[in-house]
Amino acid sequence: MPAGGRPAHEGILRRQSARESAARTYARALPIVPVRARGLTIEGADGRRYLDCLSGAGTLALGHNHPVVLAAIRKVLDSGAPLHVLDLATPVKDAFITELFRTLPPGLTDRARVQFCGPAGTDAVEAALKLVRAATGRTGVLAFTGAYHGMTAGSLEASGGAFDVRVTRLPYPQDYRCPLGVGGERGAELAARWAESVLDDPKSGVRLPAGMILEPVQGEGGVIPAPDAWMRRMRQITADRSIPLIADEVQTGVGRTGAFWAVEHSGIVPDVMVLSKAIGGSLPLAVIVYREDLDVWEPGAHAGTFRGNQLAMAAGTATLAYVRTHGLAERAAVLGAHMLAHLRRLAETFPCVGDVRGRGLMIGVEMVDPEAERGALGKGLEGSGPARVGGPDRPSERGAAADGTRTTPGAARGPHPAAPELAAAVQRECLRRGLIVELGGRHSSVVRLLPPLTITDEQAAAVLDRLSDAVEAAALGHAGRGGTAGRAE
Ligand code: PMP
Repeated sequence: MPAGGRPAHEGILRRQSARESAARTYARALPIVPVRARGLTIEGADGRRYLDCLSGAGTLALGHNHPVVLAAIRKVLDSGAPLHVLDLATPVKDAFITELFRTLPPGLTDRARVQFCGPAGTDAVEAALKLVRAATGRTGVLAFTGAYHGMTAGSLEASGGAFDVRVTRLPYPQDYRCPLGVGGERGAELAARWAESVLDDPKSGVRLPAGMILEPVQGEGGVIPAPDAWMRRMRQITADRSIPLIADEVQTGVGRTGAFWAVEHSGIVPDVMVLSKAIGGSLPLAVIVYREDLDVWEPGAHAGTFRGNQLAMAAGTATLAYVRTHGLAERAAVLGAHMLAHLRRLAETFPCVGDVRGRGLMIGVEMVDPEAERGALGKGLEGSGPARVGGPDRPSERGAAADGTRTTPGAARGPHPAAPELAAAVQRECLRRGLIVELGGRHSSVVRLLPPLTITDEQAAAVLDRLSDAVEAAALGHAGRGGTAGRAE
């Protein structure tokens, strides 16, 4: 302990809040000072250990400091290879592209080009939007409610929190808070029809766009998996009208959702894929991969200094290969389904857990206020019967009917309002129990889990135990303040 008796980590946290921008995010809810990490575990400067289910916002497919990642980085360092080479060819980059192309949906790999972008996901989104605008000569973009594509100007335009004339917003299908008041397959079908009519109605006020951008599972939007049938409809609608389809797999890629790329669940082949996070094996790397006939760019049309990070490419190659050869996507599917089933039981115990949903190891628990009246959207549902959900991979609802569709108790009357304070309380209680979770969703009321794909059964059980305890503590705290969010009798 330093002079004055205050632990060093407190000083670091104090200096952080005094010196860093007011825009800092994760650091506000997670006042820890990581000094060591391995796999799922982070150790703070205060000596406490945490199970990290934030995983660098879904970046760490193999967890922290996986031995194959460290070995790949060391190999480059020890080889004397240059670390910075702009976009020049190197053996390290060559190996990365070979491994990346090996994993891509075959319909795309056969005729793909790759563009190395600036190092963040948002850079690759910018590149994708620029590419389709150059290739089509059009400017508009179709994007979805609740989308998140990044923080630079173009990505932000396409994200759900923005308002911009160049982007036309279409409804993203969801069961729990379906904007069309129906949910399930029917809601997805209506959402698809809306997309179609916006494009085909000459007076819709929407010009033929340069592209459509979508996330196969919305992450920041609240862990909302798109139904496979809807994904196929979007592919068909865009293909029929020569609109390039951009799949933003920044968060869903590299096994996270139970398939190597989330588009594989529906079998569609997008025209452009936006990739970042896990492809750099914990170091910054972002690319777009796209159909070669879209490659109309002039030399230098999308340049940037930091597009040749050799360490990230080596770490990324090791990560992609490890996920592929160890079947970690399949593992994510199995373990994710198990974790969802466990959490759904939690939802039966605690009325404040409104919904549990996800795909693979991308899991969300939506906290609601069970005392408050059900939402206006839900009121339109009265008498419309339970929401029907399109198959076993749409685990957003609690009960499973005999025909494999799922039903939500109370769906006929709509969901309770979101409870962001309760979600924040769950996050705090998790941290007290040594578990790091993320919040997200339209109302910041979704507790999100993005554990590494290498998480063991025992670790998953520990995560679920701690999360269950945290939900109980938060619910009791809420009940203690006059609420009734505690245990269902
Ligand atoms: N797209 C998606 C789907 C994302 O989840 C994110 C980041 N959460 C981004 C784009 C932006 O990536 P970055 O933060 O690296 O710019």
